[in-house]
Formats: sequence, structure tokens, C-alpha cells
Amino acid sequence: MGSEWDIFALENDAPELIGSKVIGRPLFDFISGNVTQQFVQALLQVVRSGKKSIELEYRCDSPTERRLMHMRVTLEESGLVHFVNTLLGSESRKNKILISRATQRGKNTTVRCSMCNLVKPLKDWVEPDRFDGSNTSKVAEWIVIYGICDRCVANLLRASSARTTVT
Ligand SMILES: [Zn+2]
Repeated sequence: MGSEWDIFALENDAPELIGSKVIGRPLFDFISGNVTQQFVQALLQVVRSGKKSIELEYRCDSPTERRLMHMRVTLEESGLVHFVNTLLGSESRKNKILISRATQRGKNTTVRCSMCNLVKPLKDWVEPDRFDGSNTSKVAEWIVIYGICDRCVANLLRASSARTTVT
């Protein structure tokens, strides 16, 4: 993890995630939500059970930007699983959004997808800065729990069954 990682962590109000504080710790210490942990577990299982590598796109948004990322997960000869994350592109938001994690899950708690960063305030998954709430025109601050939307689950299934060129 280079200095860009640290800059991103600091810019996004997560000083606890700078490289020197995360390297060597278990991945699951940093993944919020059961569903998301299961998803990453499934990913690891896919590469460990013969698939060897898997590629997925996901979002890693900041309050002011949408960032499209690409993830390549590869099983190395040594048995280690290698994650390579690449920024594909970013786009500024018109309205800044703030996302914080709910301490408890309530009946009406909004779910945010860990992969595509969409939120589900009602029935549908939407971009958080484009959601037009019934009472307020702009919901800038979201309190969420983390999960994975149906589309991202389907993407993982598709990526894990696709043929790969094994060298
Ligand atoms: Zn999703």
C-alpha cells in the first residue's frame, strides 16, 4: 500500500485505515456487515477452489466522488490470495453525501451495497445523491448498514462461472 492509499484514507476521514495500521491484520477486521463478509468469503472460496482468479468491478465512493474500481483476486502458488485494486475512473457528485454506519439495525435502516455503493432507502437500489425522498428533496446524510445487492451477487456468480485462461 503506497502513499496514495494513505492520502485517500485521510481525505475520507478514516485515519485508522492508513497503511501502517492495517498491514498484517486479518481482512475481516475491516469488513462491515455479515452479508459483505460472506460475499468476500465466497470470493476467497472461488479462487481457492480451482478458479485461480476472478475479476470484478465495484465502487469505492468518497463523499464528493463516485469512483469506479476494478478488483482482481488471484490465488498465488504459495497459497496466498492477492487482491489488486485499480481505479478505473471517477466522477464528481453534484451534492456531497455523508455516510455513517448505523450502530444498530432497525426495521427501516437503509442498506448500502458494499460493492456498487447504491443505497436502498425504500424498495429500490438508488444512487444516494440522486434519491428524491418523499419528505425532503435532498437526503445528504445517510445512516446505513452494509450488505450486497442482488445485482452484485449475480455479478459474482457470473464472474465465478466464467472461463478464465489458466497459464
Ligand atoms: Zn451492489
